[in-house]
Amino acid sequence: MILHIDMDAFFASIEQAINPRLKDKPLIVGSRGNKMHTVVCAASYAAKALGIYSGMSSQEAFSICPKLEFVPADQAKYIWTSEQIFQLLKSYDLPLNYASIDEFQLELAGHPDPLNLAKKIKEQVYANFNITASVGIAKNWLLAKLASKLNKPDGITLIDDSNFEQILRQTSLDKLCGMGGKIGANFIASGLKTCWDLYLDLPGFFNDNPGKFDENPGKSNELPKSISHSYTLPTVQINSQVIQAWIRLLSEMVATRLRQQNLISATVHLWLNDPQIGNFGAQKTHQSAINDGYEICQRALKIMTKLALKNPRIRAIGVTCSSLSRGIYSPLLSEDIRREELIKALDRINNRFGEGSIYPAITVLTR
Ligand SMILES: [Mg+2]
Repeated sequence: MILHIDMDAFFASIEQAINPRLKDKPLIVGSRGNKMHTVVCAASYAAKALGIYSGMSSQEAFSICPKLEFVPADQAKYIWTSEQIFQLLKSYDLPLNYASIDEFQLELAGHPDPLNLAKKIKEQVYANFNITASVGIAKNWLLAKLASKLNKPDGITLIDDSNFEQILRQTSLDKLCGMGGKIGANFIASGLKTCWDLYLDLPGFFNDNPGKFDENPGKSNELPKSISHSYTLPTVQINSQVIQAWIRLLSEMVATRLRQQNLISATVHLWLNDPQIGNFGAQKTHQSAINDGYEICQRALKIMTKLALKNPRIRAIGVTCSSLSRGIYSPLLSEDIRREELIKALDRINNRFGEGSIYPAITVLTR
């Protein structure tokens, strides 16, 4: 059995959770800051009810609803939340797969009560992030993903032998994952309308989708949008040395992952949580792209200085590197070349003796 969790209007819901003024209002998240010249990358449920959807131009959305609320997308914030949800799901100790930024899958081999588990997960997600998710449960990932869409938002749907035919008969083919493009168009052109029509034609299509858990997402050729690591501290931290040590450790972790994939990054985003203020942060894009933890940390600390926190009370920290490109950092100055040799040696040591065998002294403060 697969349990597929799909967050409801993820980006829009995060914005509404952070800013209660936006709650229940028609809201769009734009891919760019200029609200009249961008594309809707997420619409709240109140906006969806008016016929506004992702992929629509913002101009069209505003023509439908001139009073629409607008927020420019803040990717690092969404990635940060996504990673926190992933960590929460990890605590269930079941095989877990990151399907996309707002979709996760758990493998439930022989779980006694999947519906109750789904309920518990939804409650925990809501309690922690103040956003809702819809859950689908079925024998394979294709059907579980489909099920998660059938009672949105905030729904739970289980597809089993007892309702398989009924649900497939009621569901139009375009709801099925992968039917958006040419394949779907071909099926529809050949007269198939519902998922049941497809099942009668190609029963194996619904049976041979056991799961995606064997795939290694790191091996994909596609360039990741960003790489990040975050950590929630056990208690609020006011010691700036310790906070800096965490930023260094997270920067090193991000840098290691960048180097493993031969990536360099031009944008560093630092994200912090103060229980009283909530989440805040900033990012900066530089001319030079890097993958050195020390440099990433320096860029993050500069952001920290700019934030000019008087009495920081930090509960969670996230470091994200984006604007990624394939490449090997090639320093020009002799001092940098020496540093590059040092990093290579450190990676070799950590590869051979295990991650964290050798580490920057300041990160001792995180232990
Ligand atoms: Mg979603």
